[in-house]
Amino acid sequence: MKTISILGSTGSIGTQTLEVVRHTGDFRVSALTAGSNIDLLEKQMREFQPALVGVMDPDKAEQLRQRTSDLNITVLSGMEGLLAAAAEPSADMVVTAVVGMIGIRPTLTAIESGKDIALANKETLVTAGHLVMQAAREKGVRIFPVDSEHSAIFQSLKREDHSKISRILLTASGGPFRGRTLEELADVKVEDALKHPNWSMGAKITIDSSTMVNKALEVIEAKWLFDVTFDEIEVVVQPQSIIHSMVEFVDGGIIAQLGTPDMKLPIQYALYEAERNVMPGDRLNFAALKQITFEAPDMDTFRGLALGYEAGRKGGSVPTVFNAANEWAVARFLDRKIGYLDIIRIIEDALSHHDRMDHPDLDTILAAEAETYSYLESRWNH
Ligand code: NAD
Ligand code: MG
Repeated sequence: MKTISILGSTGSIGTQTLEVVRHTGDFRVSALTAGSNIDLLEKQMREFQPALVGVMDPDKAEQLRQRTSDLNITVLSGMEGLLAAAAEPSADMVVTAVVGMIGIRPTLTAIESGKDIALANKETLVTAGHLVMQAAREKGVRIFPVDSEHSAIFQSLKREDHSKISRILLTASGGPFRGRTLEELADVKVEDALKHPNWSMGAKITIDSSTMVNKALEVIEAKWLFDVTFDEIEVVVQPQSIIHSMVEFVDGGIIAQLGTPDMKLPIQYALYEAERNVMPGDRLNFAALKQITFEAPDMDTFRGLALGYEAGRKGGSVPTVFNAANEWAVARFLDRKIGYLDIIRIIEDALSHHDRMDHPDLDTILAAEAETYSYLESRWNH
């Protein structure tokens, strides 16, 4: 039986991964981690009996240790807990389902420990893609994408020669504000931005989907996963979220993956190392669906997508600043401290303040993140 560890097991991807574990009965769980939701983590410990859990918040970790003293499970806190979970010896695969670039160190640790990766945590590839892909190559570790678009591309490429790719067609729903003007976006409230038309996800990625920064992160994620240039990645808006992405080849043929919007399929496809297995759930009904429509992304209104392409093309430390500024701004927006359009203004401000560094190592990336945060604190926190 295959053994997996899940970083971020209490989140949207984490809990859906455990649903797959539950319904298939084909996986054992060796480590779980959470930010602070110890009520849910305790339930998961009792059900899945991992050897180790990590809780980011030290006080919560201590509370959990006391509550679960009847179990033979080690409870660690902070980055130590995340890294120990990433390296837990009995795991064959680590599911990276934490949100944000906090995932860089545990992802690298999991790779260094020889674990295959089921990668949901896109911010890690955006900021440290060169380090992650190189480490995976050196260690012979496989990276299975969990993000639905990247899983679709991965599925479309399964029997294809990568050198025959002409374009990656990355689909986007356009989010809840597709078709709106900038004036109409100015007074968007947190509640409005948290309503995604097709997917139910964590708060941060839901806001990112509404600004299309999520699609920008996914463009950079695709560049690293599939070793293509930015000119070879085109975003296609497909509002029904039925086509999860497509690949066009040199002969003009296009292969796509379609399905109902359900993250359990890409999660399961990654856990089974790109093999198909039965999954219950709704099936597409084309007669009821009637149509699938397409449009070009509106990069003037949703500047985040254009800024992401630009940051990706510049490369080096620039995608880190793009990502860190977005993480900072989205957290402030969710705290109701800034307006909706400030998210993009903040990203632009951080990018224009930054001096690009080439081939940043891990410390340089984390320093660029910290500098972005302190710059933004001084400029925007009043
Ligand atoms: P979420 O907010 O629902 O869950 C995040 C998990 O990480 C939780 O377990 C939380 O406790 C933990 N966490 C949060 N902050 C942490 C910190 N500072 N330190 C340690 N742990 C922390 O997020 P999600 O929607 O499940 O997304 C997780 C990742 O997967 C993101 O990178 C997201 O972009 C990606 N992703 C999500 C979906 C989706 O459908 N939810 C789809 C594609 C990609
Ligand atoms: Mg996606």
